[in-house]
Amino acid sequence: MDIILLGPPGAGKGTQAHRLVEKYSMVQLSTGDMLRAAVKAGTPVGLQAKAVMEAGELVSDDIVSALICDALDALDEGTGVIFDGYPRTAPQAHSLDTILSDRGRVLDHVIELEVNEEALIDRITGRFTCANCGAGYHDRYKLPEMEGTCDRCGSTEFKRRKDDNAETVRQRMVEYRAKTAPILPIYEERDVVTRVDGMDDMDSVTESLVKVVEG
Ligand code: AMP
Repeated sequence: MDIILLGPPGAGKGTQAHRLVEKYSMVQLSTGDMLRAAVKAGTPVGLQAKAVMEAGELVSDDIVSALICDALDALDEGTGVIFDGYPRTAPQAHSLDTILSDRGRVLDHVIELEVNEEALIDRITGRFTCANCGAGYHDRYKLPEMEGTCDRCGSTEFKRRKDDNAETVRQRMVEYRAKTAPILPIYEERDVVTRVDGMDDMDSVTESLVKVVEG
């Protein structure tokens, strides 16, 4: 099964993708994670992407589509995929059609996490993750039970994304509205879109996604 999770920054795509991966034998392909890894490793792609990401703008379609091709080609046969943060533009959506059909894959669902944009800035600007295991926390909504120590793995190292500041988040929203939201009609025509209320609590959102996946 192949699924696209769509929604503006902070809608919970990454968190929910993680939860689905834990429940089903699927993998999460996040172009944002791949690009951050490339920036950290200082690869040519990373060097090209760094400033664009810090400005909250979109990296070129060719770069992200190539990352997706490589990631799909590295998978074991039969592994289902959750696309998180890809496609983000109409050209990417069209590339994905070709990428999937070339590999004999079929897109089963596009799930849009609907959210109140006003709340997103607040959600995003407080978030941080454990540097060791990736568990997610928030300054106001979800602090570790023991201050400074990850609930899941006990690490005391945490990190924040460089682009999770109010100014960059606003630009990321502008990009979402202008370039990503317009791809929904492409999928609506194919009758594969389900909308889920992303403002619900995390467990209810997961339940809604499970219903979609299990049909
Ligand atoms: P994300 O982790 O999905 O919020 O992505 C973080 C940043 O990486 C975005 O603001 C973009 O600069 C870049 N990025 C991630 N995925 C894409 C994509 N599919 N197309 C273009 N840029 C992307």
